[in-house]
Amino acid sequence: MKITEIKTYLMHAGVPDSSGWKARNWLFVKVFTDEGVYGVGEASGWPRVVETAIQDLAQILVGDDPFEIEKIWQKMYLAMMGHGMTGIVGGGAMMGIEMALWDIMGKALNLPVYKLLGGRLRDRVRLYAHAHNAETALDLVERGYGALKTGGVTDPLGKVVEIREAVGPDVDLMVDIHGPPWLTTKDAIAMGQALEAFDLLFYEDPVAPENVEAIARVAHAVNLPIAAGERHANMWGVRELIEREIIDVVQPDTGRAAGLSQMKKMAALAEMHYVTFAPHDGSLGPVAEMAAVHLCATLPNFLILEHREDDVPQRYEVMEPQPTIVDGYMLVPDTPGLGIDIVEEAIAKYPSTGNVSPPNPNEEYVYFRAREKRASWLGARVEETPEDFS
Ligand SMILES: [Mg+2]
Repeated sequence: MKITEIKTYLMHAGVPDSSGWKARNWLFVKVFTDEGVYGVGEASGWPRVVETAIQDLAQILVGDDPFEIEKIWQKMYLAMMGHGMTGIVGGGAMMGIEMALWDIMGKALNLPVYKLLGGRLRDRVRLYAHAHNAETALDLVERGYGALKTGGVTDPLGKVVEIREAVGPDVDLMVDIHGPPWLTTKDAIAMGQALEAFDLLFYEDPVAPENVEAIARVAHAVNLPIAAGERHANMWGVRELIEREIIDVVQPDTGRAAGLSQMKKMAALAEMHYVTFAPHDGSLGPVAEMAAVHLCATLPNFLILEHREDDVPQRYEVMEPQPTIVDGYMLVPDTPGLGIDIVEEAIAKYPSTGNVSPPNPNEEYVYFRAREKRASWLGARVEETPEDFS
């Protein structure tokens, strides 16, 4: 079998009037072969830019055997080396293509992808959904979710107080701070210590990810499991966090972590250090999520998978069949490959627009915003600011 062509399908995946989500795009990939079998994948990591990277890589992959996944991965990695270290654009391009190769192999062998990745330990994958007030939290619990995440940079503590009070002690809660660059490490520690009383499953991205020492300081001072890793592009990005046992939960993004095989390697490193695995999925589309479900089914240290419940309407049009969710768990499909396909006509209905978050007109781009925001950060509820990608 040989690769004959690689096509990309870019679409707008946001809500027009939502500032953070206005710029959300999804990028799907199809890898075609000379035997009529094709595979689908999804790439994140700045989709409009990644699309060009995939088209560039496609030129060197035509004629390759799609079963030689590790070899193709190394070929793509070396081909991009001249551009510098592989970041989210390269990682996204590799992920979209590599994911489609697993789908091809599964379809050709009549096996679901989880069997190719080592076989499953579970037939359903635990999900968590997002809630920022008691009403949403109670609704999600009513619908079967036993794990919820809140956070943001506006009064995360107040949200946790309200939600914990509403749902009681038996629901797992998580807090994601989204690591804003203006937040000081001291304030992240103060927030973490205030959250210790609420028995969190994890405290996510308490500071921006670029400075490992800052995360280490938070982890040292806060008695909560620390989660990070969604903005990294490959196994080297999370290596130090895991090897130094700074984090307790690693969260690679299934659209930009450079491949399912990379994520499997990350999970193995994490396993050696008693670190659990909880992929980032909040901004991703349904194909990447299904790939994550196959992978997570195979991992002994899998903890939980992020899931955007009640997403934009286009989510439910662009992939079929839709996943089955029962009591807060996504069922692992038994059909060949990833078990899903994209719907090209539906994708074409949502042309891509800008793919960077619109600037806040009040933003001064200075770090002392942290001081100005401290009141809302550590206490009093202020006017809600839109959540950016989780
Ligand atoms: Mg996050």
